[in-house]
Amino acid sequence: MGRYLGPACRICRREGMKLFLKGVKCDTAKCQIEKRQRNLAPGMHGWRRPRPSEYGIRLREKQKVKRYYGILEGAFMRCFRKAESTKGNTGEVLLQLLERRLDNIIYKLSFAPSRKAARMMITHGHIKVNGRKVNVSSFSVRTGDKITLKQSDKSKNYIKLQLDANPNFTTQEWLQLDRANFEATVVALPTRDDIQIPVEEQLVVEFCSR
Ligand code: ZN
Repeated sequence: MGRYLGPACRICRREGMKLFLKGVKCDTAKCQIEKRQRNLAPGMHGWRRPRPSEYGIRLREKQKVKRYYGILEGAFMRCFRKAESTKGNTGEVLLQLLERRLDNIIYKLSFAPSRKAARMMITHGHIKVNGRKVNVSSFSVRTGDKITLKQSDKSKNYIKLQLDANPNFTTQEWLQLDRANFEATVVALPTRDDIQIPVEEQLVVEFCSR
């Protein structure tokens, strides 16, 4: 699996919004977007912001979604093809499929500070779904799936630290978190309202189905 290894907040600058790729880092003044003269697109010509073309607008929307979930083009397009062949509004189905990724769930449950950290926990085998170890971050959860931890103090302590850092944290309604036992259940699939990314998914669909 490939992944982007460059500076995370450089992507915030490109997309013109905080993407929280490193979790809390984006909340601090360390996010480049907060710095004066840095709130521009990255690179030598960042100060030039020509009026984006119809193509450019759609490209940025697609890139925004892709980078928000921290996946690369191949994985993104596979998701799109799946959404296309599924009944319903393609844009909404696409976002729903992305939201159902196991790495996103772990992040949404506040088990990890970012999706990137969540992926690491998964690939290192700390997460179980319905009692079986799942080390694939793109794993798509279904209604009724139960998410638990590996029986190890290391896994438990890590999650405990995460949860203790956010004492007032509550999950979204489609997820149910059992704080005491470090367990969670997917009680429903996410609806468009549950998905918080500010994006016009119709533009993404138009871009991908050219
Ligand atoms: Zn940032």
